[in-house]
Formats: sequence, C-alpha cells, structure tokens
Amino acid sequence: MKVIDISVPIYEGMPVYKNKPEKQPKLRTETNGYVTESRLDLDVHSGTHVDSPLHMVVDGKTFETIELEKLVGPCKVFDLTHVEDRITAADLEGLDIIENDFILFKTKNSFDEEFNFDFVFLAEDGAKLLAEIGIRGVGIDTLGIERSQEGHPTHKTLFGKDIIIIEGLQLKDVEPKGYLMVAAPLKLIGTDASPARVLLLDGVTF
Ligand SMILES: [Zn+2]
Repeated sequence: MKVIDISVPIYEGMPVYKNKPEKQPKLRTETNGYVTESRLDLDVHSGTHVDSPLHMVVDGKTFETIELEKLVGPCKVFDLTHVEDRITAADLEGLDIIENDFILFKTKNSFDEEFNFDFVFLAEDGAKLLAEIGIRGVGIDTLGIERSQEGHPTHKTLFGKDIIIIEGLQLKDVEPKGYLMVAAPLKLIGTDASPARVLLLDGVTF
C-alpha cells in the first residue's frame, strides 16, 4: 500500500487566499532552555481544509455536523488540467461520476507555486450537475471551490445537497484514478471549516 499525502504544508509565509496578511498563520514559540511550547494562530480556511455550510449559509450547519463516514472512503481523481478558467457541466459530462462518489479535481492549479487570483474553479452549472447526480463530496486543488460568482452559487448548491467541499488540495503528482481517501480534519466545534490532513491510499482493496 502506498500513502499519498495530498495536503499542503502549513507555515508562516504559506500561500493564503488572495494573499491577505490576516490569513497568514502565526506561530509563537516559547522556550525556557529545556521545554519548548508553541502556539498557533490559524485561519480555519488555511491550506488543505474542509468547509462546513456555515461558511456560506446564514445559520448553516457547523463543522461537527459533518459525518466522518463521508470523509473516509473511495474517491476518484479526475484529470482536468486542460480546463481553462472554470469547470463547467460540459467539462464533467462524459466523466465516470455516479451517485455517492467523492471526486477530486486535478487542475492546473496544482502547478501554481503561489496564490493565483485566476484559479480554475467549479462553475455554478458544474455544481448543479454534481448535485443532481448526488455525489458525496468534491475536492479542488486551490483555496476556493469558486470565485467571481455573485452570491456564491457553487458553495450554496453543494451545501444545499449536503455535499462535502474540500479545498486546498495538492494533486500535482497524483495519477488520475481511484483511491481510498482518508480526510481527517481537526475536531472543531461550531466552526465554518477545519484544516485537514488528506491522504490517498493506493493499492488498497475496498
Ligand atoms: Zn474554505
């Protein structure tokens, strides 16, 4: 079995959404010479993370309502590195996506070395198609599943069907095929997201 880590590293100076300074993690380390302790100030949407509906829905469900059963299981990685600007329903038609799938989009975002304001995202019509199919979750290789869509319809369409959204994946070296995915976010209570370690297990029968 091979374990592939598709999470991004967390450190001061890491790529953050729109390069906003307030989104940078802050690590404060204290030592008295023999004991070292650090405190971490971390935006919950830092790096690889799972969103909860509260992020885009007023009074939406908070993080602890997300079932672990949805975060651990088979997933499919699709190669969409040819897609420019946005992933539309037309880009998804013809792909092997069925009900209850967890799908990860490998796009050219995975090759960006810093935050790209023109990142490839999932368009509203693509989200609607996935909601109709009834997938379990969707992951993308940048810090947002959408940009420049008034009212955030992609997030709302997916949350409306309880579809899990994982953002900030790194899929550059990942072969597009099926894996067993383990997405393990922190057990945060009451939040709109949580950072997560996301692993793909290759060569596991399930
Ligand atoms: Zn987010």
